[in-house]
Parts: sequence; C-alpha cells; structure tokens
Amino acid sequence: MAVQRRPAGARRVAALAVLASAGLVGGSVSAVTAARAAAEPISDTTQAGADIPNAKAIAGGVEGLDPRLAAAYAAAANDASAAGVTLWITSGYRTPAEQEALWEDGLQTYGSPEAARRWVLPPSESTHVTGQAIDVGPREGAQWLEDNGSHWGLCRMYDNEWWHFELATAPDTACPLRLPDASDR
Ligand SMILES: [Zn+2]
Repeated sequence: MAVQRRPAGARRVAALAVLASAGLVGGSVSAVTAARAAAEPISDTTQAGADIPNAKAIAGGVEGLDPRLAAAYAAAANDASAAGVTLWITSGYRTPAEQEALWEDGLQTYGSPEAARRWVLPPSESTHVTGQAIDVGPREGAQWLEDNGSHWGLCRMYDNEWWHFELATAPDTACPLRLPDASDR
C-alpha cells in the first residue's frame, strides 16, 4: 500500500517548491548530511530511542511532512541561516514500519511500555507518522527554534525532548505549555 504512505503528488511538489526557494534542497544535501554525521553521532544518548536517524530521514528531511509544517520549517530555517545559526532536521516523517521498529527498540531499551512512551510512541500515536513532527539539531539550532519558532507556529512540545517540534500554534502566538514527555499526550 505504498500509495497510502505518500502524500499526494501535488502536496509534495508544493512543499519541495517552498524548500527549493529557501535553498534547502539540491546539491548541498550531502554536505549537510556529512556535517551532521560528524557533529551528532547516532549513539548520542541524549536522544536515545526516539531519534535514531535512518537513511531515509537523512536523505529526505522534509519528504512526507505535512506541507504546512514543511513550509513553516523552511521559513524558519531560512531565518536561522540568515542569523548564522545551524539548523537541520534529524528526523521528520516516518513510515509506520519505521516507527514500529523504533517502538520495539524503545520497549527493549526501557523495559516497559510505560517507560518507553516517555521517549517513543507506537505508530498509531506518533505525530512523526502523520508528518506533523520534526526532530531538529544541533542543540544550538534547536534552542534558536525554541526561542523563535512561534513566529511560524513552531513549538517545542516536551520537557524531555529539546529536539521535537510541531506546528502547535498560530503564527506569532505563544506556544502551548510544554508537556513533561510524550507519555502525557
Ligand atoms: Zn520527535
């Protein structure tokens, strides 16, 4: 059922057009990927479970995201770049199968569904699977997005995940109060 896992072609094209205009797609992707690999090893324990980069996320970044989220992120990333701040997506859209693998990993790592849910949700509940969440890095870029993201409606959602952002408010409106972690959702 590959069709169901992909956004409509027109939506994808629109999102990519926004990103192309922001200079976020094209030849620089491999350089960005290489820089990120050097800066943020996969084994980074601060992002255990929920944020294991996979090949698809590294290659795509914004592919499969809700077009509104993709556009908001593109605009924010443009301003971050202009301000000299490094910002990238470490994980965006995930297929149900990818999320299931992360969930299974989380169960193994944390020992129970209750403990795992603080860091990773099953496919039926994850906003990554619906294309409505992004994980960003590096830490400095995430902090910049936390401080400035509400201009585009982008909000950090959880106390324990400095990297996880969603489109959660109207532009230039205060973000909702953060939840302690994803298990409170
Ligand atoms: Zn996330």
